[in-house]
Amino acid sequence: MNCFEVSNRTGDNGVRGVFPVTSLLSHSCSPNVRMAFRNDATCQGTCSNRCVAAVDVEEGQDLTVAYLHLHMGTKERRERLKDWFFLCACDRCKDPTEFGTWQDAVRCFKNDCKKGFLLPENPLDFGSLWKCGDCGESSDSSLVKNLVEELLEEKNTLDRSDLQSYLDFLDRVEKKLHENHYVLNATRRWILPLYCRMMANNKAGNLVTEDMLEKKLEMCRKYLYILDRVERGLTKNRGRESNIYVNL
Ligand SMILES: [Zn+2]
Ligand SMILES: [Zn+2]
Repeated sequence: MNCFEVSNRTGDNGVRGVFPVTSLLSHSCSPNVRMAFRNDATCQGTCSNRCVAAVDVEEGQDLTVAYLHLHMGTKERRERLKDWFFLCACDRCKDPTEFGTWQDAVRCFKNDCKKGFLLPENPLDFGSLWKCGDCGESSDSSLVKNLVEELLEEKNTLDRSDLQSYLDFLDRVEKKLHENHYVLNATRRWILPLYCRMMANNKAGNLVTEDMLEKKLEMCRKYLYILDRVERGLTKNRGRESNIYVNL
């Protein structure tokens, strides 16, 4: 039986709730149900939970929710899901491209291969070879794992309020990963609120250039493209990103 993190309205003290029926729902990395929690202002009183279909559900189809955040690539999600004592084999995990989003794809390691990307031959096998769809070169999974871990580590050392250092990181890393890779998206997810804050504080209007606005829109577009495919229905993430997209 699972419990759920329930954030209160003040947004600072999350609590955990056990809801007898919804706690029994299975996980999917592209769920067909989303949760809607209801609580009082301090979450000291009764919290209730509703399940809302995120997409049309066929009769007899399993109802599924996500046990973790969905922005990670398959390899990392499946590693983390081991904490729940199962290896996910949902439709998204089975598809090397993750519904055409390529969130785990890294640029081919072969020097003269300019356009190829590596993806696991079998995403359900942690030790699977990674193969380039362009030149056919294979790479060991440990090489890809090391590269991604190194980049994540580098990202985590950046000054969290320094927009320029995130933009520089993005520029550097785009040369090593697919443009939709989840490390890049995690970086964009952080950059977008920094952009918004900067624009909101820019009363004189002289700091924001056309180029910045274009960059911000492009980041939103890339992020929404992925959410549209893996986080179906009306979710908080999609709402937040759409709001950033339309509020220049
Ligand atoms: Zn899965
Ligand atoms: Zn290649």
